Amino acid sequence: MSCPICRGAEAPFASATVLRKYAAQYVRCGDCGYVRAADPHWLSEAYSDSAITTLDTGIVARNLDLAERTAALLAWHWPQAGACLDHGAGSGLLVRLLRDRGYDFRWRDPYCANLYARGFEAQPDAHYDLATAFEVIEHLPDPLQMLATLAAEADVLVLSSELLPATRNRPGEWHYYMLDSGQHIGFFSVPALAAAARRLGLQLASDGRWLHVLSRRVPSPRFMRLLRKRRWRHWLLRHRRRATLAWSDQAALQARIDAAAAHDATP
Ligand SMILES: [Zn+2]
Repeated sequence: MSCPICRGAEAPFASATVLRKYAAQYVRCGDCGYVRAADPHWLSEAYSDSAITTLDTGIVARNLDLAERTAALLAWHWPQAGACLDHGAGSGLLVRLLRDRGYDFRWRDPYCANLYARGFEAQPDAHYDLATAFEVIEHLPDPLQMLATLAAEADVLVLSSELLPATRNRPGEWHYYMLDSGQHIGFFSVPALAAAARRLGLQLASDGRWLHVLSRRVPSPRFMRLLRKRRWRHWLLRHRRRATLAWSDQAALQARIDAAAAHDATP
């Protein structure tokens, strides 16, 4: 078997029981350190209940945090950014939060009903200045394929996925395997992300834990580490703010509703 990220040779890494019944084998790439479930045949069952697992109690806190980090990245490194995309947007909470911070985010998620950002769907063939894919790559059997698609649509990719710890990184030792949900099947190291970036012709900047940027031009490692600190994020955001889109969004949506009603009323 060869690594789906860097094509290096893989070796057995660990085994575990997924969804309380399936024996899962994990393999690790000897070159980049990417760890994956060797044969995640349980995926359709893992998503049969919902795209969002009931075990994800961190979902709101995480979106608030990611909205701050993304807005700070945009404000300080891509201040002219126009349309942006949230790929794998889930409920649409992040898109709403970033529109509230003045950034024109659109959403896409074929697997989850959108609740908070209807009317701001991504359009096919659109190009984006930046795309986010938060808590996505650890779900995919072939993350490089998704990243290549996204890199063709957007100049800057911002990803969140917890990095494999250096030690105590096997099932039962690290929470991110989420064995009772079965949805997390691939786990990155910094070298694995760097290998993915290289194959796409991009640079990598990572905060070393969770947030990663792939682009031709990336923020400094120091800036990425600063983003982890709430006090710094708030300082960064205080000094470069945009006006909220909440009210112009409401006016635009109202205009669409009025136009549809006028169209329906036309004999
Ligand atoms: Zn590899």
